[in-house]
Amino acid sequence: KQAIHVIGGGLAGTEAAWQIAQAGVPVILYEMRPQRFSGAHHTEHLAELVCSNSFGALASDRAAGLLHEELRRLNSIVISKADKHMVPAGGALAVDRGQFSQDLTNTLAEHPLIELRRDEINTIPDGIVVLATGPLTSPTLAEDLYSFTGLEYLSFFDAASPIIVGESINKNIAFMASRYDKGQAAYLNCPMNKRQYLHFWEKLRCGEQVELKQFELESAKFFEACLPIEEQARRGEDTMRYGPLKPVGLSNSLSGENYYAIVQLRQEDKAGKLWNMVGFQTNLRWGEQKRIFRLIPGLESAEFVRLGVMHRNTFINAPQLMLPTLQFKHRSDLFAAGQLIGTEGYTAATAGGWLAGTNAARLALGKTLLSSPKTTMMGALLDFISSASPKHFQPMPPNFGILPELSTKIKSKQERYGYYRDRSLTGLENWKSNL
Ligand code: FAD
Repeated sequence: KQAIHVIGGGLAGTEAAWQIAQAGVPVILYEMRPQRFSGAHHTEHLAELVCSNSFGALASDRAAGLLHEELRRLNSIVISKADKHMVPAGGALAVDRGQFSQDLTNTLAEHPLIELRRDEINTIPDGIVVLATGPLTSPTLAEDLYSFTGLEYLSFFDAASPIIVGESINKNIAFMASRYDKGQAAYLNCPMNKRQYLHFWEKLRCGEQVELKQFELESAKFFEACLPIEEQARRGEDTMRYGPLKPVGLSNSLSGENYYAIVQLRQEDKAGKLWNMVGFQTNLRWGEQKRIFRLIPGLESAEFVRLGVMHRNTFINAPQLMLPTLQFKHRSDLFAAGQLIGTEGYTAATAGGWLAGTNAARLALGKTLLSSPKTTMMGALLDFISSASPKHFQPMPPNFGILPELSTKIKSKQERYGYYRDRSLTGLENWKSNL
């Protein structure tokens, strides 16, 4: 059989290569390290964890924990090694990063169907290919990817605003409307009076920021077009009121009263369960974002599924380009996974790697391709990636907001998450047994 090419030996590529080999298909895994390093990787091991050593919450009634459990049941090599090299971390699945990556490297190197080549790939090869070069894809390959996708479908940095769970927003304060009543009411609006605005502005401009790494500072020129909200606050008391917080065209429908400032939230998913804070790209530390953004009227109890980030991140507009099988629409033997397709985090990259690898092998074997059930965290996330609105597409981590509603309403959050878990794992087992 012809070998499948997997490009990038990170979280997604390692999982993809393993699944292909386990399906009996030979695979060549290309990793550019140690010949060339991204600004964030420091070792030559596969699946290096570039920052935190945590895969997120361990409990299976939490979003990350549910995804771990699904992957465990699907024989993920990455999660099995994470379990093996786990270190105590409260409720999180955290690992000894050195042992974890070293063990994965040895295990893959010993597989008779995996050839590990330490080469940088500069153009997308022919044949069956899985692209998994991550957020710091090397520049020459990124250029080739740009010729393949078109510039408007490839982003080089992530200036993302926080995303909030809709039901945690106080709808007695936030109201649906579009500016000047144009078209259908499309935004949730959080109104502020002058006192509230000035208090928020004061806290925001003093918020503590993340220190940018050298390679991120180099790409900071991109950010000039898209200033962090705290930087807008620092530029003057009224800068935000002439920018994303402008109140014009939105008045109180009962009293006709004009507001001093408005924070707008835009619907993120088709079901309207997730809301994006318009214009709130930020470098504030995550704890600071929660503390300060909850000062906005209507967001006092906001539950964030993703906090704002501004960093270098190469990712494609997956909803425009990809199928839920993780194939490109215009080239069915080209698959992609990981941060490159806009899933966020180590576990999500592993999940994408599992599906892309499994499907690449199935294509080689002449089998029908798979997409995982939408009631699973994996299925919901990969479905979101291929079906979200392409217009404002931003990377997404695993979270309960993207799962389909339960057939009955359950008020208690903890109980509801337990139901999501049970539904997911039952669906996953049925799916597996029908394969
Ligand atoms: P990666 O793990 O980055 O793997 C991509 C691999 O491809 C790398 O090994 C790279 O060397 C290789 N490669 C690139 N170009 C080529 C080429 N042309 N030829 C051959 N090989 C190539 N996520 C978290 O969950 N927790 C965190 O704390 C966290 N911190 C982060 C900090 C930074 C600075 C960055 C940039 C990202 C962070 N992330 C974090 C997101 C993280 O990148 C992903 O969760 C995860 O690493 C993505 O997996 P991946 O397989 O898509 O990419």
